[in-house]
Amino acid sequence: MSLSQLARTIHESVTLKLNQTAALLREKGEPVIHLGGGEPKSKTPLDAIVSCTAVLNSGDIKYTPPDGIPALKKAIIRYTEEYYGRAVRPENVVASCGAKQAIMAALIAILDPKDEVIFPAPYWVSYPEMVKLAGGVPVAVRPEDGTFYPTVKEIADCIGSYTKAVILNSPNNPSGVMYSRDFISEMVDLCAKKSIYLIMDDTYNRLVFDGKSPINCYDFSKEDIDASKLVVINCVSKMYAMTGFRIGWAVGSRELLGAMATIQSQQTSGPATPSQWAAVGALNGVQNSIEALRMTLENNRNIMLDHLLAFPGIRVTKPEGAFYCFPDFSNYEKSSQKLAEFLLNKVRVVTVPGKEFGMEGHLRISFCGAAKEITEGIERIRWALDPASPNELYLGDRRLVRDWM
Ligand code: PMP
Repeated sequence: MSLSQLARTIHESVTLKLNQTAALLREKGEPVIHLGGGEPKSKTPLDAIVSCTAVLNSGDIKYTPPDGIPALKKAIIRYTEEYYGRAVRPENVVASCGAKQAIMAALIAILDPKDEVIFPAPYWVSYPEMVKLAGGVPVAVRPEDGTFYPTVKEIADCIGSYTKAVILNSPNNPSGVMYSRDFISEMVDLCAKKSIYLIMDDTYNRLVFDGKSPINCYDFSKEDIDASKLVVINCVSKMYAMTGFRIGWAVGSRELLGAMATIQSQQTSGPATPSQWAAVGALNGVQNSIEALRMTLENNRNIMLDHLLAFPGIRVTKPEGAFYCFPDFSNYEKSSQKLAEFLLNKVRVVTVPGKEFGMEGHLRISFCGAAKEITEGIERIRWALDPASPNELYLGDRRLVRDWM
């Protein structure tokens, strides 16, 4: 074998692998409940389908500019004005193959070897691997108080001469917490003072609960966009339930975004044309699907919380947005990998080990599925772990007897 050092250090996406495992088990007729997923169940908005179908029907599907067709850039500019109150120009926008490529292109554009990128733990699984792919060094900051909320000081203390960027993701995957306005405001200030990039991963920005409003980082930025090192990442993947289209985008300074466009031109030549038109349809079309999704998720969150709070021995932080909860199961099992495997083997529930997100002892449990699956999934987990539960459980007509306690 002669794989590169880089290839040997990069881990595969655990969440995507779990999707495959769950699909394989389901194919075999196993009654799997997938609480490991990272995509809403709802369908693509109709306006996206109409717009995508129109270009498909034309049969004229050709290369596009690597940073996006003008119609998509226009839609992103309008979105940025409406939801962020910022007027930006086409040179400040790059459309990518998902938020993932937008972040990746930004990292390649800013990192030299050994440069560091800071992000709070728990973090989205891909950040460390993406930083490594771009030649940099990931630096995870674990809040010392054991919560999911880092302090500005904890992050500031990690900033050194090699630090090039901080990535913040709020609402957060995997914890569901939303960082406070004060925290975001101080982070915008801090990064501007230290002249480092602040990459705001706003993938879940509008999926927030309990009457909260999405936080707009531009509210705290006094600089002109072309002088600023603030980069905002978005996508149609989660909010519009369009994960399979692979469209995301970045907004930032003309200099950085120009470099990102050049990088994309050599990587992929830009996102697929039909997907770009689908995103135009979604962004310009009727917007009520986002509120419908947000309400469904809030309801699912409540159902999940009710069940988790009644579960003895675990520690739960209330998700304030996105569609993940990240309870601490370490009273039952310290190794999250072992626990996730155990739950899949014994009760056929898919969860994601917290270790992958930089926090052992936790499991990421998604509430983007059907309410019934959430209820039954948590009940199965509880049955497998809580000695006070009855000794038997039925999965459909299959009778399980607990013989491991
Ligand atoms: N950022 C976060 C925090 C995510 O959870 C995800 C998807 N799981 C992405 C970025 C990537 O989104 P996309 O599918 O648009 O590449």
